Amino acid sequence: MTRLSIYAELGLKKVINASGKMTALGGSALTAEVAEAMARAAKDYVNMEDLFRIAGQKVAALVGAEAACITSGAAAGIAISVAACIAGCDLSLIERLPDSAGLPNEVILPKGHSINFGAPVTQVIRLGGGRPIEVGHANEVKAAHFLGAIGERTAALLYVKSHHTVQKGVISLQEMIALSKEKNIPLIVDAAAEEDLNQYLKLGADLVIYSGGKAVEGPTSGFICGRKDLIEACQQQYRGIGRAMKIGKEGIVGLLVALDRYVNRDNSPEVADQKKRMSWLVEKLGEIPYLEAKLIQDEAGRQIYRAQITLDEKRLGLTAKEVVKLLEEDNPAIYTRNHFVNLGIISIDPRPLLPGQEVIILERLREILSRSRT
Ligand SMILES: *Cc1c(COP(=O)(O)O)cnc(C)c1O
Repeated sequence: MTRLSIYAELGLKKVINASGKMTALGGSALTAEVAEAMARAAKDYVNMEDLFRIAGQKVAALVGAEAACITSGAAAGIAISVAACIAGCDLSLIERLPDSAGLPNEVILPKGHSINFGAPVTQVIRLGGGRPIEVGHANEVKAAHFLGAIGERTAALLYVKSHHTVQKGVISLQEMIALSKEKNIPLIVDAAAEEDLNQYLKLGADLVIYSGGKAVEGPTSGFICGRKDLIEACQQQYRGIGRAMKIGKEGIVGLLVALDRYVNRDNSPEVADQKKRMSWLVEKLGEIPYLEAKLIQDEAGRQIYRAQITLDEKRLGLTAKEVVKLLEEDNPAIYTRNHFVNLGIISIDPRPLLPGQEVIILERLREILSRSRT
């Protein structure tokens, strides 16, 4: 606490993250254990090919997969998976990508899954040599849309599991798995931020992609897990397009330690602590006029309890959007979860908050909201 943050030394504002694990705010803050393992890895040499192989085996064992391939992130995982489905282990093709002219290169995805997670998913498909084919409509995609698009040029099917996608009216993962088996086309699942590391493989997906810096709370990293032959092809892509998506030895080691702790975690004390801190915040916020504060469980039913603040914008003479802007402008800059800000709602996510930061958030909100009424 006595030492200045490394970012302050660079002349940057201090950031309080109450929004979740956002790439824009630096992904996850690592535990001391993960950070120390990375520091040890950084100070030594290793045969990288061996490290990749051993790390892949360890990740596969931890998530219950046949095999796994380490990547620099989930976006790289998508590009590498697509490249693997197009080029396989053929070196001449691997070295030719992303030029895939004349090869089966079409990657079919539901239109409602064509999202932007910071970059468009269709662009990372193209980076791997794929040609994205979006089927159906934004809010309606049926098996028939896929059947109409599948042909000789199809390389893979892609399913994106994320809160960013259209959730209603879109073909289910189970149906897409059935289609992929029937047509004998690999199915890739982008599960970048998902907490369950095993269910999509168990359902029958061929390749499943995760980010190491999201649910797993590791460093910037990622992995692909699934079918042994396809994972072998993924690894081979490091002689091609994968080279531009290189991950270092310290990132690999950090991912392994974080993943081990994540898989073997008992997070009930952590959840109880987060719930207690958010209940305290809700109670204190309740004393501020013209706002309503509630403890709300995550909309997807996960064990996340957030403080949800609904502003009476008219009586405050201030919109939730304006409050968010004021919070972000100050130093420290406070970033909240703003999915419903248009409805006058601001949420505080306890997961990325460091101990005591809820007190700073309370004080800043008190200040902003009292200023507005005078
Ligand atoms: C975050 C995210 C990605 C990209 O993950 P990185 O590890 O940052 O490359 C891809 N797909 C989805 C659905 C995401 O949420």
